[in-house]
Amino acid sequence: MAVLNVLVIEDSQEDTLLMIRELKKAGYSVNFEQASSAATLAAALAKGGWDIVFSDFTLPGFSGTAALAQVRKHDAEIPFIFTSGTIGEDTAVAAMRTGVDDYVMKNNLKRLVPAVERALREVSVRSARRRAEERVIHLAYHDALTDLPNRYLLQDRLKQAISSARRVHEPVALLVMDLNGFKAINDSLGHYVGDCVLQQVAARLSRVMRESDTIARLGGDEFAFVLPRTDGEGATAVARKFLRSLKEPILFEECSLMVSGSIGIAWFPEHGATGESLLQKADIAMYAAKTGKLECAIYTDERDLQAHRRLTIITELQEGIERDEFICEYQPLVNLKTGRVTCLEALARWRHPRHGLLPPEAFIGNAEQTGLIEPLTIRVLEKALDDWNTSYSHLQIPIFVNLSPRNLQDPELPDRIKDLLRSRAIPPSMLGLEITENFVMSDPLRASKYLTRLHDMGTTLAIDDFGTGYSSLSYLWQLPVDVLKIDRSFVAELARAEDTIVKCAIDLGHNLGLSVVAEGVESAGVRDRLRKLGCDAAQGFFLARPSPAQETLRWVEQQQGTRFMAGGRG
Ligand code: C2E
Ligand code: MG
Ligand code: MG
Repeated sequence: MAVLNVLVIEDSQEDTLLMIRELKKAGYSVNFEQASSAATLAAALAKGGWDIVFSDFTLPGFSGTAALAQVRKHDAEIPFIFTSGTIGEDTAVAAMRTGVDDYVMKNNLKRLVPAVERALREVSVRSARRRAEERVIHLAYHDALTDLPNRYLLQDRLKQAISSARRVHEPVALLVMDLNGFKAINDSLGHYVGDCVLQQVAARLSRVMRESDTIARLGGDEFAFVLPRTDGEGATAVARKFLRSLKEPILFEECSLMVSGSIGIAWFPEHGATGESLLQKADIAMYAAKTGKLECAIYTDERDLQAHRRLTIITELQEGIERDEFICEYQPLVNLKTGRVTCLEALARWRHPRHGLLPPEAFIGNAEQTGLIEPLTIRVLEKALDDWNTSYSHLQIPIFVNLSPRNLQDPELPDRIKDLLRSRAIPPSMLGLEITENFVMSDPLRASKYLTRLHDMGTTLAIDDFGTGYSSLSYLWQLPVDVLKIDRSFVAELARAEDTIVKCAIDLGHNLGLSVVAEGVESAGVRDRLRKLGCDAAQGFFLARPSPAQETLRWVEQQQGTRFMAGGRG
């Protein structure tokens, strides 16, 4: 039996009971309350839970129209039916215009039940439509994945916060946060895991923020926070609180993932008077935090300048790649036992139209941060392989090219390399790839799979700058690498007769079955020491500086010649 909660605005108890009897006859189980003044009506409305309201049109000391206004103020949708003995046709029509659902004459109560049913039906249609509209509006202003406000709603809230802050002379802070290493999670574990991480991050951040703050997802792994009544100092404290909330690992099925973020801060009125300018400046500060490996950073003009410079560099890098301004120089690696050149390392140079020949440290970092490292690496590989064909193919000496950690997030690179080799008819064994050990450590399992793909193609793999990273030996042991290159900072210690670390590294490499190369050999003394310690090969200014392909070729040919001559005499 349908239950109906009816609020009756009526001064006659008898009339009320007559109406209730009609409803009960139609099969409703009715709960009702009678109100006859503004005060009793207010009390009944406050109680809530009413399905429908009947109201007399004329009451002593009260009126149907006043009751209607009071009910509508409380609830815009609840069905409202006038029940009256006195209402005239004109008044009834006017009443319908003011938001009454129907009217029923008390002397014709047979109409009451159909009127109630129709009103209930209509209200349910209306509320379904309203819910759908609300949902559409919600979706337009919220992010579907995390249900947080999106960029549009953030801009709106920020604008409101700034305009009310301006009136009361208070600050408003804006924080922009970007997760560190999120792309790696997405690339290595898949979007499903990436989505779960974003949801958990959103939940944690929402839990620690104040009620008056707004948190939004700007897109990707970027979040933003509007903090009313907060300046730079306060914002820094809040930023640290947010970052702390991310420190606990995120548990996901069997794995636990570590995420961290970089936060940029800007605030009104110090850094801008509009939402747009604050967003832009918080973004610049966030970028400064990211590149400076800080947890959070406050906007400064200096950072803006850096951002401008960075923008210029990005455009120039892009143009440089398109205009073919990158070339390679080659530095030989020499076998310490035989004196033979075992291979050449290709080192990228930028022939910049205004700044002249630039070394890698002037552009590799920027290329890595902007994603331009991918096309740049391809360019370097193309150059090196073309140079091999022109200058070194008759010597059959392999060329080693450096890869950035970022390159190894590109699942297409191995196939690209395969194509580059095939189209030039160069055997894969003539190409080596150098990888720094930190890449390996960020995600050992993935690294191992990736390196196996490269190694299976037939290319040689070297761990570069060994000793400067954090590699754990147990991982190195499992990787398909062939060469270990000891970083020049350790090799330099040999000049001071300090050989413990280098000796250790050489022994370790040999125990793992690797060929060991010392980088940065700058004197005969160091070379001789390395030879004594059993190091396989050396690279350094003492042997040969990096130089253009043809120059290196002449050096190699001369070297091989003198070696043969020396061999012939001995
Ligand atoms: P790296 O791979 O460790 O390369 C060796 C660096 O040491 C080269 O610097 C070389 O010029 C320098 N070097 C060689 N012998 C000596 C020596 O006896 N003493 C001293 N002090 N230095 C020596 P370069 O060419 O400036 O390259 C720096 C780094 O830039 C490279 O270090 C490599 O990590 C990176 N790099 C170079 N080319 C590329 C590239 O095409 N792609 C990527 N991702 N990185 C590159
Ligand atoms: Mg290298
Ligand atoms: Mg190195």
